[in-house]
Amino acid sequence: MMRVAVIGGGISGIASAYYLSKRNIEVDLYESEDRIGGRIGSEELQGRWLDFGGKNIGKNYRLFRDFVSACGVNDYEYFGFNTSQIINGRVVRINKEGAKLLNILRLIGMCGIDGIRKLYPHVRVIMKDRSQGVLDSDYFNTLSEQYDHLSLAGYLKEPCLGHVVRPVTVRMNGAEPDECYLGNFGSNLALVIDSYEQLKKGMHGMLDAFHLFAGAGSVRILAGQRVTSVSNDPVSGSIKLDFLKRGVSESAVYDKVISALSAARLSALLNDVLPEASELLRQVKYYPVAVAIVKYRRDVFQKSQRAMVFDHSFPLSNAGAYGINDLNLVRYTFSGRASRSVISESSVPEEVIALGERIAGSYFTISDNTRESFAYRYITEGLCAYSPFHHRLLLEVDNKLKPFAGFGSTGDYRRGASIEACFRAAGECVDKLLGSGS
Ligand SMILES: Cc1cc2nc3c(=O)[nH]c(=O)nc-3n(C[C@H](O)[C@H](O)[C@H](O)COP(=O)(O)OP(=O)(O)OC[C@H]3O[C@@H](n4cnc5c(N)ncnc54)[C@H](O)[C@@H]3O)c2cc1C
Repeated sequence: MMRVAVIGGGISGIASAYYLSKRNIEVDLYESEDRIGGRIGSEELQGRWLDFGGKNIGKNYRLFRDFVSACGVNDYEYFGFNTSQIINGRVVRINKEGAKLLNILRLIGMCGIDGIRKLYPHVRVIMKDRSQGVLDSDYFNTLSEQYDHLSLAGYLKEPCLGHVVRPVTVRMNGAEPDECYLGNFGSNLALVIDSYEQLKKGMHGMLDAFHLFAGAGSVRILAGQRVTSVSNDPVSGSIKLDFLKRGVSESAVYDKVISALSAARLSALLNDVLPEASELLRQVKYYPVAVAIVKYRRDVFQKSQRAMVFDHSFPLSNAGAYGINDLNLVRYTFSGRASRSVISESSVPEEVIALGERIAGSYFTISDNTRESFAYRYITEGLCAYSPFHHRLLLEVDNKLKPFAGFGSTGDYRRGASIEACFRAAGECVDKLLGSGS
């Protein structure tokens, strides 16, 4: 039986292992941390598991939904789309449960004529053909060739830039519009026009279900085992992995290996063995994000206004209710340029939360509320912002990886950072490595 190793137990690695197991292939899934999940990982807060990274599941997440259903998980709760921001000193809300016409009028006002003229045609293309709303799609590759010499800040004007585009890029890429490019923006637009649910038992429930699925099938989860090098044997065609298991070096040999690491981690792994590929992968940008989930004694939000985005002058990019019925549970997200200048790995969580409370406290019931408990996470390489002419970079990476027979790579930089895009990329990587449908 063919043996395949997957490096990285985030959602890209889980997806790769799932697609391999569907082909009855024996899989070893290596994860350096003690638990799988990576950037969709959860933390326990007063007996409840809460998600710090990806948790919102779009209605169009077909591949991810098929996967969770195969693992026996089918319970979702509505999350909706509810946001607000301050425009000219007034709170402007967009609430999917509210009046449709009012939402449309507000969105038109936020986009302005230039924004509508430039963005609407791209949205229409994605609505007609969802497969275009990912990285490296034909339609957006053509736009990349035309416009990626400019950033989004050069392509679009205010008010669209500040009120529509920035809230999207800081949230999804941790980046400002002047750090993002139109050629990659289709993968963001596809998310904006989706509507969302979350798993009732959260991502933690999904990970538990995947453990059972893996145990009953052909996937071995090797948590706490960090891969330190990969090398191929040109004679046998097999690939050797060296890894650290509880501080002790070990190695194993596989027929094929898939990297499901971020581009930054893969770059580090290939530094000695494929320096040119490593150098290219280093060009993919990642930005930090800090997430705090705070439980207050009383409700902070109202059902009709459950979230607010803040402009470029604030380190807090977004504060929102954890779920539609969790109005006393606030998820603070710190991303974007202003946050990078004040928050780092060594920041004290309580101080970061106090900063978020000072900013959001003017609009929500926070200052006279009691903080009961919190959980906090800082992710250095948190959100992927890709690169200009990204499709060209991917092509060059694949060319440099070619001599490494039997090695495939997937991850958030291939089709986009959404959970669904990670599944799509993983499926394509498995097909490419093993031949589709075999
Ligand atoms: C704050 C935040 C909110 C988000 N919200 C959403 C959302 O609501 N909806 C959505 O669709 N997407 C969301 N995303 C995006 C999505 O969660 C991520 O893009 C996705 O989880 C990335 O998964 P990955 O497996 O590619 O990478 P990772 O999760 O980074 O997985 C890589 C794994 O490899 C492991 N690893 C690293 N080096 C080694 C090594 N040498 N050996 C073995 N293992 C190694 C790491 O520990 C990690 O577990 C969000 C992301 C963040 C950060």
